Amino acid sequence: MTKYREIHAPLRTIMTPGPVEVDPRVLRAMATPILGQFDPAFTQMMNETMDMLRQTFQTKNQWAFPVDGTSRSGLEAVLCSLIEPGDKVLVPIFGRFGHLLTEIAERHGAELHLMECPWGEVFDQQAVIDEVKRVQPKIVAIVHGETSTGCMQPLDLIGPACRELGVLTVVDAVASIGGAPVKVDEWQLDAVIGGTQKCISVPSGMAPVTYNERVEQILASRKKVERGVALDSDRRDVAHPIRSNYFDLSQLQDYWGPRRLNHHTEATSMLYALREGLRILLDEGLEERFERHKLHEKALMAGIRGMGLELFNDVAWKLPVVTCVKIPQGVDGESVRNMLLHQFGIEIASSFGPLHGQIWRIGTMGYSCRKENVLFVLSALEAVLIRHTAPIVIGRGVQEALNVYE
Ligand SMILES: *Cc1c(COP(=O)(O)O)cnc(C)c1O
Repeated sequence: MTKYREIHAPLRTIMTPGPVEVDPRVLRAMATPILGQFDPAFTQMMNETMDMLRQTFQTKNQWAFPVDGTSRSGLEAVLCSLIEPGDKVLVPIFGRFGHLLTEIAERHGAELHLMECPWGEVFDQQAVIDEVKRVQPKIVAIVHGETSTGCMQPLDLIGPACRELGVLTVVDAVASIGGAPVKVDEWQLDAVIGGTQKCISVPSGMAPVTYNERVEQILASRKKVERGVALDSDRRDVAHPIRSNYFDLSQLQDYWGPRRLNHHTEATSMLYALREGLRILLDEGLEERFERHKLHEKALMAGIRGMGLELFNDVAWKLPVVTCVKIPQGVDGESVRNMLLHQFGIEIASSFGPLHGQIWRIGTMGYSCRKENVLFVLSALEAVLIRHTAPIVIGRGVQEALNVYE
């Protein structure tokens, strides 16, 4: 019989767009003893987490809580709780995760209306608003920070325009939350989904969501409480109940709210992690955190340019936490990534779809977004590219980054 040794994970420098390195304080929090989910000591932590999520989403919404599951579980919870079969959903797609929104909406019976632009671009906000006026959808579902292309879609005009037209906005801010401003109230967004394993720097496994009373009204109209826990007052006929039990926001809301209606068993250790990750984030300060992400982005970009490499997302709408580098002609991108991992213990990412084999994506997110990591990835990349006889400028990468830091 095989005897397995205890886990011995190698130490890595993770410079991908997630999952990223986790602050040791978060790892410590995860070793906190388990509490029952209705223990007042635990429900207090749940309430504190909700409060810190409101601050992180920059919202006064009553509802801000994590869905248990990876980030897409938050997307799925919001979309399946809102979409009734035949509802019109408009999805402007500018990368992989726009396709994911489409995919989820489609599976829940939406009548889809798509807009597409080339990967590497974002939409002119007025073009989206014009399409909203034409299609008159119930929902516009759109990505904020598109990790597949390193681009960030401005939403400050789309949100208010949709509000005025009575159209709900559902925004995937999984990659941007905690690394770049996501102003839920100011941009008048109705439902926003964040991620843990990106700029919040907590392991993957929860999806923070927030939504306002417009969304809540729809949830209330579709609400159907699970038989085994329902009271007589909960029983009523609902024309189109939410199709998922696990992702039913109306029940999750009762679980996170004062009623504490039993639903799933909360992921205790993940809640500790999220609470600690948010505490660290707010302790640093939102603005300070965004500035830190911009500083290391600037140093990384200077280093990449110094090496004579070309950036794919050198654009005004660049997502500050993902830097995409064009793979030089004749260089095997996967071989470079392998050598970075096996010789240096550094992980960077490739990309998807039309960008597969074309670019590397380097994340500067959360706890991974540090000076020593940026300098290390630049020096290692230079060494590896020399081994691949790539035509680069030798000796300038780290120096240009240091110029930014000094
Ligand atoms: C990472 C990511 C997701 C998916 O997250 P999972 O945690 O893997 O489910 C969704 N949207 C965006 C923009 C992302 O970057």
